[in-house]
Amino acid sequence: MTPKVARYLADMQPVTPCLVLDVDRVEDNFRRLQAALPLARIYYAVKANPAAPILERLVGLGSFFDAASFQEVSMCLDAGSAPGAISYGNTIKKERDIAAAYAAGVRMFAFDSEAELEKLARAAPGASVYCRILVGNDGAEWPLSRKFGCEVEMARALMIRAGELGLDAFGLSFHVGSQQTQTAAYEAAIAKVAMLFTDLEEAGVKVRMVNLGGGYPVRYKAEVPEIDDFGAAIMGAMVKHFGNSLPEIVIEPGRFLVADAGVVQAEVVLVSRKGAEDPVRWVYLDIGRFGGLAETEGEAIKYAFRTPHDGASEGPVTIAGPTCDSTDTLYEKSNYRLPMALRDGDKVEMLATGAYVTTYASQKFNGFTPLAEHYI
Ligand SMILES: *Cc1c(COP(=O)(O)O)cnc(C)c1O
Repeated sequence: MTPKVARYLADMQPVTPCLVLDVDRVEDNFRRLQAALPLARIYYAVKANPAAPILERLVGLGSFFDAASFQEVSMCLDAGSAPGAISYGNTIKKERDIAAAYAAGVRMFAFDSEAELEKLARAAPGASVYCRILVGNDGAEWPLSRKFGCEVEMARALMIRAGELGLDAFGLSFHVGSQQTQTAAYEAAIAKVAMLFTDLEEAGVKVRMVNLGGGYPVRYKAEVPEIDDFGAAIMGAMVKHFGNSLPEIVIEPGRFLVADAGVVQAEVVLVSRKGAEDPVRWVYLDIGRFGGLAETEGEAIKYAFRTPHDGASEGPVTIAGPTCDSTDTLYEKSNYRLPMALRDGDKVEMLATGAYVTTYASQKFNGFTPLAEHYI
């Protein structure tokens, strides 16, 4: 938690649940990433947190943007981004949304299928398009499975087809899964994309851009490699496979830029046990899966907690949200431990919750108001 966030929580005593996010930290993260990968152009994955103060700060820093929908394209434009700095990176788009983005000046689009390519040719004539290939997601704590991307053979055919349709087949992309903890995942994906790159060159398609996607991890409960380790591994692999004729390099960080800038503060609603001798206490908070903590599904992302009793003796807990739905249980199998002194009314902080929380909150499930957001 940054000192600014700590001071805000102490001075303002905001109503819980809430997210307090230090926008200066987003800037620090942007600069750290730039230093780790100086040859890469940064497209912020807006879906991680589309709050206007974040987008405005990033516009000021010269960031580019990866938008998942026309609504996100609009948010970037409203924040002052030039349309030419926006990539419409979702491979699944309505044709009328492609047309709307094109009319707004967006010229960079992702695809991974022939039907999408045909939509692009109709609704965004002449646009620069890039094909997403399927790569392994091993090592990712929030993997993306097979939903996006196509096999290399298909990507090759589609890139050739893109040119025939009057589009500029300028790039290839992949995404190694979010919260990717292994640098080797990028190295393997770069090797795969480089082979296709060469193959396409031989087929007469001059690819000029490689988009390495997102996935750069942040520290939750467990340590992760430093961003410089990812930078070194990625540049090592790029040079190994592309030599000194490097293509334009694009990266799409989401989590890395915003997660550790934010802290969710919650209130303990109840601490109870299921039997007098049961060693495990149930700790119910005023935020849960439906309050925005969607990435606790399968206990995939393990947030770290702060409590007013840290340092005192601890015991095992199951941590759950406040709604009347049993899937609103955050951590039951991950061996969480919290202080024995914890009781209702205590405020607890969940660290590094600036990414993938606010927009995942349900509207009013069980009547609970979505968490408040404070950008400082
Ligand atoms: C979600 C997403 C990202 C951002 O991923 P992070 O793991 O948050 O860095 C980048 N690119 C694409 C295409 C995405 O879908």
